[in-house]
Amino acid sequence: MAALQPLVSHLQTQTGQSLHNHRLSSVGGGDINSAYRLQAANIDWFIKLNRADLAHMFVAEAAGLRELAEINAVRVPKVIHFGEFQQHAYLVLEFIELGSLHSRSASLFGQQLASLHQRPQAYFGWAIDNTIGSTPQHNTRDDDWVSFWRQQRLGKQLQFAAANGYAGSLQTQGEKLLEKIDGFFSDYRPHPSLLHGDLWGGNAAADNQGQPIIFDPACYYGDREADLAMTELFGGFSRDFYAAYQAEYPLDSGYKTRKTLYNLYHILNHLNLFGRSYLNQANSMISQLLAELN
Ligand code: ADP
Repeated sequence: MAALQPLVSHLQTQTGQSLHNHRLSSVGGGDINSAYRLQAANIDWFIKLNRADLAHMFVAEAAGLRELAEINAVRVPKVIHFGEFQQHAYLVLEFIELGSLHSRSASLFGQQLASLHQRPQAYFGWAIDNTIGSTPQHNTRDDDWVSFWRQQRLGKQLQFAAANGYAGSLQTQGEKLLEKIDGFFSDYRPHPSLLHGDLWGGNAAADNQGQPIIFDPACYYGDREADLAMTELFGGFSRDFYAAYQAEYPLDSGYKTRKTLYNLYHILNHLNLFGRSYLNQANSMISQLLAELN
């Protein structure tokens, strides 16, 4: 931690805040970055650190948190500062004591996520590209959601998978799926909403007042069903959450089928990030989707 002292001095200069008599402790739990808590009089910050060449990840994370904060539907940590210092990229956020989303907070979160999703956005994509985990996520504007999902989501992950050596039926069946993807949207026209984009249970919590908090986003404007689908992929969200979301902003009946189409993106991403143990799941999701279309 002694190595972080120059960063603390740098932050003091950059933010104009006094960090005199500060305390620094390490925070666990992240997948990608190392994280610290920095406390001083009137200061309680959460600092994420990574290599300087990954500074673009923090630029995009800060942009996402700021846009979510502006809509003000769900609480997010305030962005204090971000930049590069020596060999590091850093992101400084407000530190929030995080707890689980218990029943009342879970219902509140359902309502709040619905109201984030109800806010209309102008197009599919986003102002900048970002990352999902550490995988590049392309957000070039497209007014057609189906072509956005085909090219910039599933198509890209299949290309990354090919580059990672996953050839064969993943690619042939994956291509078949991309060709037929319109079939999932014959009577459903999604509207663009600001999505959290990486909404698994580890990126949502409650503060010590029970207010829901979301963090570590991979934002873009997309079909809200993609956010909902991801909440179901790894679990962690209660019935209260889904009931409150449905009451506020009911889902289309075709969601049950499209959910697999949306979660395939994250499973392909896991295949690309974490390896072969996700291959069977990816293949069986593709088979299931192709079977739905027949
Ligand atoms: P990574 O990008 O490395 O996955 P996260 O942003 O998910 O890192 O943060 C890692 C962990 O730190 C989270 O699981 C959460 O428990 C905690 N955390 C995240 N943001 C804050 C915050 N603003 N204040 C306090 N703890 C936080």
